[in-house]
Formats: sequence, structure tokens, C-alpha cells
Amino acid sequence: RPERVRKPDWIRVKAPTSQGFADTKALMRRLNLATVCEEAACPNIGECWTKKHATVMILGDVCTRACAFCNVKTGMPRKVDPLEPQHVADAAAEMGLEHIVVTSVDRDDLPDGGAGQFVKVIEALRRTTPATTIEILTPDFRNKHEAAVEAIVSARPDVYNHNLETVPRLYPTIRPGARYYASLRLLETVKKLDPTIFTKSGVMLGLGEQRLEVHQVMDDMRSADVDFLTMGQYLQPTPKHAKVEEFVTPAAFQAYGAIARAKGFLLVASTPLTRSSYHAGDDFAKMKAA
Ligand code: SF4
Ligand code: SF4
Repeated sequence: RPERVRKPDWIRVKAPTSQGFADTKALMRRLNLATVCEEAACPNIGECWTKKHATVMILGDVCTRACAFCNVKTGMPRKVDPLEPQHVADAAAEMGLEHIVVTSVDRDDLPDGGAGQFVKVIEALRRTTPATTIEILTPDFRNKHEAAVEAIVSARPDVYNHNLETVPRLYPTIRPGARYYASLRLLETVKKLDPTIFTKSGVMLGLGEQRLEVHQVMDDMRSADVDFLTMGQYLQPTPKHAKVEEFVTPAAFQAYGAIARAKGFLLVASTPLTRSSYHAGDDFAKMKAA
């Protein structure tokens, strides 16, 4: 196996140069907001920001964990910014967002894992832009997930997303701070507490998982009543991160997508460049209209 596998053509993306990209960047800096688009070095940033889609990352830009696939900085996180919830809402208003995705770094240092800030963001959005649908993508809240999820579910986001990221066998190397079944239980808890909230999860492919392991993850998600699924190609952000074991072909992504639909997911996105938040608003709106 070569040290680094060459990126196939279907992964190449254009460099971000549009005015829309520059405007989104300026707005985020003015409101002192971090985005996962930048911190995770997302390949879709040119396309998404040109269309004014961005995924805001609350609770700072420093994470208490260090997952092997993730480009977010690790270390001692900053103090929680009390102005952040309103800034997120102001960004949604200025961008005229119909749908917003809000995620966060992991804050194992905070007594509530950061759940309270998610609640405040949802409340600020409902006050400021009541027509915007809200998708939150949360960490696993480690051993305080029941209380954290209860608080967030009570604030009633439209979509609750939590990514399983990979198959259980690869957790010790890829997601060492997390437990597969704890993440699955979190998703199940959301649905049990409020069945009207759509639940969503995703996996990255190309980390060395086997096809049947991916099918098993789909079955596990369905048994936890997960509604939406995203699957995309893992890309190595820097040489220090986990290696790409395989570039899964677009046809293989399509085949996984067909299997997922047959298993009963309401929404499935499965292409090499799919990310948890890629086209999230468009897909959600289409599903609601159908
Ligand atoms: Fe940002 Fe998501 Fe688009 Fe990537 S796919 S640029 S993370 S909104
Ligand atoms: Fe990145 Fe989330 Fe892992 Fe933190 S917990 S390193 S933000 S994937």
C-alpha cells in the first residue's frame, strides 16, 4: 500500500473565490463565530459559502477531544461566550437562512457538556428568525448525555443530528474518546423523548470499514429510529491524522444509498463529498414538501 493514496478526480473541488464566500467569511468574523466549514477544512466550503450555507460551531474552536479524523484544534477550551447565541441568530437573520446547522466542539470540561448553550442558541434563533428550521449536531456528552439530551430536546430543534462517524470496530483508533453504543443510545433517547424531532446520523467511509459493517451500522441506526443518514468519503486533513485506506467510488456510494433507502431511512445522502451538513437545508425542505 502506498503511504498516501492519490486523490481521485471525483474528490477535486474548486478553490473558493466568489463574493458570496468573502461575504460569509466577513460576517462570521464580525460576529466572532467559528464555523466547522473552516475548522474541519471542509472540501465543500467554496460551494456552500457561495450559496450562503454555513455550519456554525459554538462553544469556541478548541475541543477537549482529539479524534483521529478531525482537524479541530485540541486543548484547553475558552470560556463560553454569553453573546454567542444571539450572534448565531444574527448571522441566520443576515444570511436569510431557511435552515441552519449548529454544531459544537466537545466540552467535556463543562458540567453540562455545553447543552445549555445549545438551548440558548435554539431560543435565540426562535426569537430572531422564527421561520428558520434548526438542525443541531451535538457531541455525545459522554456520561451526562441523558440530562443534556433532555434539555436540548425540550428546546425543540427540528432535526437532532449526532454522527456515529464509523463502524464500531474502528472506534478505538478513530474515535477513541467515544463509545459506539453510547452514541446510538443518545439518538434513541432523542426519539423516545420527542418522536416529532427528526433524528439524523452519519458515517465517513474510506477508513478501512467493510461493506457488511456499514450495513450493520445502518441496521443499528434504524433500530434506534434514526430518520436521516449521510455518508461521505473521509479525507485526511493533515499527515498527522488517520490515513485514507480507500477512496470509495461514486458508484459504491450510490449502492450504499440504495440499500439505506431500502432499510427505511427517510432521507439519505451518499456521495463522496457528502458531509453531515451538505445540502442539509435543501434536502430537509424537499422532504417536508413531499
Ligand atoms: Fe460547511 Fe457543511 Fe458545507 Fe462543509 S458541507 S462547507 S461543513 S455547510
Ligand atoms: Fe473533532 Fe468533534 Fe472529535 Fe472534537 S469531538 S476532535 S470536534 S470530531
